[in-house]
Amino acid sequence: MNDSPLALPGKAADADLEAALTPRLLFTDLDGSLLDHHSYDWAPARPWLTRLKQLGVAVIPVTSKTRSEIVPLRRELGLEDTPFIAENGALVGLPPAWCHARIDRPGPDGLAIRTLGVDIGFVRKRLAVWRERLGVSFTTMSEMPLDALTDYTGLAEPEARLARMREGSEPLIWEDDEARFEGFREGLAGDGLQLVRGGRFWHATGTSHKGSAVSWLISRGEALRGRRPLTLALGDGPNDIPMLEAVDQAVVIRGCHGLEVSPNQSALYRSEATGPAGWAEGVAYWWGRADRRVIPAALRAERTDAIRAAGEAVI
Ligand SMILES: [Mg+2]
Repeated sequence: MNDSPLALPGKAADADLEAALTPRLLFTDLDGSLLDHHSYDWAPARPWLTRLKQLGVAVIPVTSKTRSEIVPLRRELGLEDTPFIAENGALVGLPPAWCHARIDRPGPDGLAIRTLGVDIGFVRKRLAVWRERLGVSFTTMSEMPLDALTDYTGLAEPEARLARMREGSEPLIWEDDEARFEGFREGLAGDGLQLVRGGRFWHATGTSHKGSAVSWLISRGEALRGRRPLTLALGDGPNDIPMLEAVDQAVVIRGCHGLEVSPNQSALYRSEATGPAGWAEGVAYWWGRADRRVIPAALRAERTDAIRAAGEAVI
């Protein structure tokens, strides 16, 4: 017989209750993940987006896109009540329910913007310095004529204009050898800047990344709700790796780019489908079955410690 409070008969029900009370946050890359890499379509993800909204699960875009690009997109996707992470983690947008009353000051659009990275003026200045000093060739997004940008990205002209409104990172196309790239990377590192690989561009940015911004938002969510949330992240690119490592459960969506995406994450699912179909497949894998909707890793560790402290007899 087992008379411990952690005994097996009550444990399953206890875990169910814990899971039901645990808030959930879903972090998602946009291009090549929630949005199709080529057409930017998201229809296959629609049923899950509707269901997650009904369940009160915050779906949080985490993207290399700018604030100006995300604002109309989140309206279209029905994500106006959730935060977003823009420019690969350089800034976070907070709707009123996610604002801290004394710290955040929402603008006229109701959004409070927190800058976690560096100013765009500094990034552009240092890129120009290293181009001249090393004699290397690259083209930044802000230097591309609008028609070249629409050709390269497949964006329509109004969207391409929004993509150029950078606040904390500068995308660029490398047009020089691999060998010279390392010197360029090292030069920027000395300035506290890094190069992050996206689907179409390299992004020159500060040391914040998708993972640090996701961790910041998880802490904010925990502070507001008083409970550590269960977190899931989905992405298709190398720039998603820190985000996929910062959460409890992760999905690598099959990419169209041939680049390796191997996060250090034990709870990892790789989708068969690409884009929004792979996104829906990944969400269904983790959260479509109650038994995979586990409690957050930190709580699981506490529970294991508690069981150990109570003595091995319970197992
Ligand atoms: Mg992507």
